[in-house]
Amino acid sequence: MNNSGEGYAMFAPQGSNFHGPSAPPASMFDSVPGYEGIAVGGGSGYLPPPVPAYPPPAPEPAPTQPEWNIPSITEDTAREAFRLYASSHCCYRKAPAVDGVITSMDAFNTYRYRLETFTESRSTEWDHEAYTGQPVDAYTQPAPGPWDIQVSAPAPFQDHTQDKQVPYTSSLKDCHNCMGSGRTPCKECAGAGNKVCWVCNGSGIRGGDDQCSHCNGRGRENCSHCDGHGSNDCETCKGTRQLLVYIKLKVKWTNNIDDFVVEQSSGLKVENLSKVTGKELFKDTQYMVYPVMGFPDPAVNQAAERLVRDHQANYSSSARILQQRQTIELIPITKVTYKWSGSIHTYFVYGNEFQVNADDYPATCCCTVM
Ligand SMILES: [Zn+2]
Ligand SMILES: [Zn+2]
Ligand SMILES: [Zn+2]
Repeated sequence: MNNSGEGYAMFAPQGSNFHGPSAPPASMFDSVPGYEGIAVGGGSGYLPPPVPAYPPPAPEPAPTQPEWNIPSITEDTAREAFRLYASSHCCYRKAPAVDGVITSMDAFNTYRYRLETFTESRSTEWDHEAYTGQPVDAYTQPAPGPWDIQVSAPAPFQDHTQDKQVPYTSSLKDCHNCMGSGRTPCKECAGAGNKVCWVCNGSGIRGGDDQCSHCNGRGRENCSHCDGHGSNDCETCKGTRQLLVYIKLKVKWTNNIDDFVVEQSSGLKVENLSKVTGKELFKDTQYMVYPVMGFPDPAVNQAAERLVRDHQANYSSSARILQQRQTIELIPITKVTYKWSGSIHTYFVYGNEFQVNADDYPATCCCTVM
């Protein structure tokens, strides 16, 4: 009968040298039912959440919104945005923004569909800290499973992390770093407690025959790093000689965001739009959303269906989906054509923020000209 699977030796972290010389030896970790095989310092990956005991509520189709009106900006708004843009660039002369004459304004408003999936994932790893009188509770009760531990969730749709000690897993061990002595040799003086005098370089003499006043002729001086003791408090146990060893639960909340922007032919690159907001036409927050349907632009409906399906596939096995939110924004984009100094130029005003993009601004680098 092969019995090698029993006992704690099998839970040794593979290749523990990898963690550096101060990594604790495998023998420091007990076997905790439900937590077999977890690594030191992580690396064991995220734990799949348990299948819910009852079926989650079915998502409901959101009410369709009949009114999708399109705002447009005035010439004054366009001009003012352009002026602000020019004055925020120290190297841009203001003349084109001030004196340019607008010849046409064209709307290229577009839609942005956004799906947010707020997830919680959990992983566990062995950890330790200096023992300073904390409660020691291993085996006093069965340790709760990683997904049974209560944590307080942060506000939804915001990234956050939280570490928590798994109850009933903490035990006391002699510190591996100092062999339980609480002290480690001083690295500055290699444990000697003193080192070569930096003023006389060890000779004890300075400037001919004078005795070195810094070391009184000794040629050596006390090590200031260890106050001459040759050793310091162990950094791992802070001099307490013992470590509290326990399993740490790491909880990570992530807001996974995906955008789809309907293609528009204005010439403005779609990357620019990630920095601005639009007019919110639709918003639906549920435990799990049902892809939006019946939106006038079929590309939005298709993107919604695809992204909802992708998020389900990507996030439901390694994490727990807590909430989803889908929004549709109308992002105003106006292409402004203007004449300045005899030639035609264009710029874009976009977003609720009236952001301006003017890649062909005609009068840059006033600093070098002046
Ligand atoms: Zn000296
Ligand atoms: Zn020292
Ligand atoms: Zn120590």
